[in-house]
Amino acid sequence: MDTMLQVEQLKLYYITLKGVVRAVDGVSFEIDRGESIAIVGESGSGKSSLARAILKLLPRNVFLYDGKVILDGEDISKLNEAELNSRVRWSKISFVPQAAMNSLNPVIKIGDQLIEPLIYHKGYSKDEAIKKAIEMITYVGIPNEFINRYPFELSGGMRQRVIIAMALITEPKIVILDEPTSALDVITQANIMNLLKRVRLEKGISYIFITHDIALASDLADKVGVMYAGKIVELSDADTFYTKPLHPYSQLLLSSVPSLREDKNITYIKGTPPSLINPPPGCRFHPRCPFAMDICRREEPPLISIEKGVYVRCWLYGGK
Ligand code: ATP
Ligand code: SF4
Ligand code: MG
Repeated sequence: MDTMLQVEQLKLYYITLKGVVRAVDGVSFEIDRGESIAIVGESGSGKSSLARAILKLLPRNVFLYDGKVILDGEDISKLNEAELNSRVRWSKISFVPQAAMNSLNPVIKIGDQLIEPLIYHKGYSKDEAIKKAIEMITYVGIPNEFINRYPFELSGGMRQRVIIAMALITEPKIVILDEPTSALDVITQANIMNLLKRVRLEKGISYIFITHDIALASDLADKVGVMYAGKIVELSDADTFYTKPLHPYSQLLLSSVPSLREDKNITYIKGTPPSLINPPPGCRFHPRCPFAMDICRREEPPLISIEKGVYVRCWLYGGK
C-alpha cells in the first residue's frame, strides 16, 4: 500500500459567544497515491472545516485544533505557517475553496493571479511563471489570450476553470475541491466535472472532493466518507457505498437522489442537522433515525469495521 495522506482523529472546534462549535470532531481517513475521496454531507456537517483543518488554515476563533495529518510520512499539522506555505500548501496540496470563483481579485488580470502561486510557493521567475500560466490556462480549456483579461470578462464556468488551473499550476499531489460546481448551472457543472475527471486521469492527482451532492460524488470518488455533525459516520470504497450503503443516514441520502434510485420512491430526510454546540447525546443522528434504539440515545457508537476499507458508526452493526 502506498498511503499518501492519513488523517487521524482530526479535530477543529471554534469558540463563539454561544459556546464551542465542534465542527470537526475526530475525523480519520486515508488515501493512497492517486486515489480520490469524496466527503459528503448536509450543509453545516463540517465539510469545509475539515478541508481547512487538513491544510491548517485556521480562523482566529479556534478553540481546539488536534489530531494528525500525515502527508507522505510527515505530520503537517505540526508545521508552522512559514513551513506550511513554503513546503506544503500549493506545492503538495492545493485548495479550491467553496465559492472560489467569486474570490478572484476583480482588479488583477487573470494571468497575474495565476502566476502568484508559482512565484510565492515554487520560486519561479516571472517569465517562467507566465509561460506555465499560458500552458495551464489552455489545458483547462480557456483561450490563452484570456490571461490578459479581468475576472468580470469571464463567465462563471470560465472563472471556475481559472481557479482549477490555479490549483493545478504548482503540480500538487492532492487537490481539495470544496463544492467546486455548486454555484454553476447544470451544463457548466457537467463541463467542469468532465474537466476534473480528465485532469485526474492525465495527472494522476488525488482529490478530496467535498460536496453535499452524493450523486455528483459518484463521478469522481474511489472512496466515500459521509459526514454527519462533525463526524464520519460511514467510510467505504465507492462501489460498496453506492450499491450497499450501511448507515441509515447514508441510505436516506442515497434514496433522496432520483438519478441514483430510479427504482425506488424518493424519500427526504426529516428534521434538520443538529447543533454542533450541543449535539444530541449518543448517536448524533438518533433524533432523525427511523431505526433509533435505546442505546442510540445514550451511547455514541464507535466506528465499526465491517470489512476491509468499510466502516460504519451505527449500533445496528454491533460494536457492543
Ligand atoms: P456547507 O455545506 O453549508 O458549506 P459545511 O459542511 O461546509 O457546510 P462548515 O462550513 O464546515 O460546514 O461549518 C460547520 C459548522 O461550523 C457550522 O455550524 C458553521 O456555522 C460553523 N462554523 C464554521 N466556521 C466557523 C467559525 N469560524 N466560527 C464559528 N463557527 C463556524
Ligand atoms: Fe440510527 Fe442508532 Fe444507528 Fe444512530 S446508532 S444511525 S440512531 S440505528
Ligand atoms: Mg462548506
